[in-house]
Amino acid sequence: MSVHEQFADDILLYALGELTSGQRAELEKHLERCVDCRHELEQLRGDMALLALSATGAEPPSRSRERFMSAIAKEPRRAQLVQRPQPQRSAWWRPFEWGLGAAAAIVIVLLLHQNANLHRQIAGLAADSAAQQQQLTEAKDMMASLTSADAEHFILVASKTPPQPQGKAIYVRRSGTLVFLANNMPPLPPAKAYELWLIPAKGAPIPAGVFKPGASGNATVINPPLPAGIEAKTFAITVEPEAGSAAPTSQPVMVATQS
Ligand SMILES: [Zn+2]
Repeated sequence: MSVHEQFADDILLYALGELTSGQRAELEKHLERCVDCRHELEQLRGDMALLALSATGAEPPSRSRERFMSAIAKEPRRAQLVQRPQPQRSAWWRPFEWGLGAAAAIVIVLLLHQNANLHRQIAGLAADSAAQQQQLTEAKDMMASLTSADAEHFILVASKTPPQPQGKAIYVRRSGTLVFLANNMPPLPPAKAYELWLIPAKGAPIPAGVFKPGASGNATVINPPLPAGIEAKTFAITVEPEAGSAAPTSQPVMVATQS
């Protein structure tokens, strides 16, 4: 047995930081003059660094893992074989020392497992986030679709009741914002259009948009140019020339009652 083998166990414990100060001094003295043992220490430290790197997700080279793990596994056997003149140390101390080395190895293995669990959790969270993003995108698509010009509106009424023309105006006086939706509007004579009127509490009707219903009788007027702050008594619809009129030229075909 060479002198290096006598120190082989201590090199691993040294690398794990598990040597007592006395043992450390003794080993460091040997390392100063032994290239082989210095090389062995460098290799072990390299292996440990690679194992630590693997905690950030990279797979350590299996050669390093095997060499490191076999170095740990070999420890107890060496303990029995090595006959070291160590008058200052009692025999019961050695197994305890190996225990420390093994404990350090177990801690490393546990940390690697914990890290793998964290990676799985992160992957899970990323999947949740992607699912939520997908739902948000779907909701946005649905909103865009429902508010698009080609969205069809279906009104369900009791059977045998002919579908009635229906208009709904949503008006915000403060900002002069108006949204108007109409269903089941009767077809218009040629070159005519419906015109929406804001009937103020005081004064003449204010033009609030010209519209022609589609084939299904639906129509939408969104934010026609209106002065802000006008108090609306009601809204009305007349049939006007296609270009619209500045003032109603016919009797209203529909008049709103505020809901
Ligand atoms: Zn040596």
